[in-house]
Amino acid sequence: MDHAPQPARRRRVAGRSHLRRTGLRATAVLAGLVAVGLLAAPFLMPRSAGLDGAPPPPPLQVGAVPDVGTPDEAAPDDASATAPDPRERDDRIDPFDEDHPAVAGLDPDLRAAVQAAASDAAADGVELWLTSGRRSPEYQQDLLDRATATYGSLEEALARVATPETSSHVTGEAVDVGPTAAADWVGRFGDAYGLCQTYANEMWHVELATTPGGECPAPLPDARG
Ligand SMILES: [Zn+2]
Repeated sequence: MDHAPQPARRRRVAGRSHLRRTGLRATAVLAGLVAVGLLAAPFLMPRSAGLDGAPPPPPLQVGAVPDVGTPDEAAPDDASATAPDPRERDDRIDPFDEDHPAVAGLDPDLRAAVQAAASDAAADGVELWLTSGRRSPEYQQDLLDRATATYGSLEEALARVATPETSSHVTGEAVDVGPTAAADWVGRFGDAYGLCQTYANEMWHVELATTPGGECPAPLPDARG
């Protein structure tokens, strides 16, 4: 029993030195984060800017000291690089807004075809926008979950919404166009751009499914094939 205080004291001493070590380590980590932040800031800032719709900041000048904030503020920015972008849920997306994740993530050939179609549709007096474009797997799963709740079963949901593994939106190979007049325009003239409505029950869902000027394949009845 009279030895009991000894280990406790040792533990306290060990605890203190552990704290001291942790403090030193934390200081080193903070310094490292600041250094990384200083180096990475010029590259990260344009990507993280505009999330709230604000215009991107002017480009940094050589020699300017970037305002990277504290390391604690920098950390969420690093995390947001992989988190789903809330703008994915926008339902009226300018096909020329290449900073938008739903447009930026598209297959370049599809994006160019949609932009060409949008320009020519506009010349015909038909405004064309995207109600959906490239989707993250997380967003696609969320859409499937919601459809399952809405239609009562996964089977019914799968007639309308693909899985993250099968969706051509997730691979950047599909767009949904709107409004209805634009979907109708693409139905009539889309093949000139290689754009085809691939599902009979989704006139708004468009993929690059033929060569420009070619013939679109017959649409599948629905997303189940
Ligand atoms: Zn679609």
